[in-house]
Amino acid sequence: MAYDHQNIFAKILRGDIPCIKLYEDEHTLSFMDIMPQADGHALVIPKEGAETLLELSDEAAAACARTTKKVAAAVKKALGAPGIVVFQLNGPAAGQTVPHYHVHVLPSSLGALGQGHASRMEDPAKLQAIAEKIKAAF
Ligand code: AMP
Repeated sequence: MAYDHQNIFAKILRGDIPCIKLYEDEHTLSFMDIMPQADGHALVIPKEGAETLLELSDEAAAACARTTKKVAAAVKKALGAPGIVVFQLNGPAAGQTVPHYHVHVLPSSLGALGQGHASRMEDPAKLQAIAEKIKAAF
């Protein structure tokens, strides 16, 4: 399917809607998930418009992997997380709800994920406070 330039992450990349930013470089952006499955749930996205891993260029995939590693380290350090879950869904059948490639980074374990996937909006002030801790850990 053709990439949808009106998807919510494309709008965040264009600056049309806000996000709580954690990290940005030439090829990637990382920000807080607004419906976190654990405190400190972050997302990493490429600036390239690709719906799933299968459409993503090798260069953007490598850039996302590098940023995911940085963000995971910062989340672990900032929140004292014993474990970090990294996951990524491809296509609606797999549960993907936003059609722009993204990696989830969570300080948790699979068995301990409190919230269901994209199920409850978090208080923006709480998200901002956690984001400040993570940003200080880069
Ligand atoms: P997925 O279901 O794998 O496509 O994940 C999409 C994620 O994006 C979910 O965890 C949502 O909570 C999150 N999300 C949706 N809209 C926004 C937004 N505007 N800002 C930050 N996170 C979002």
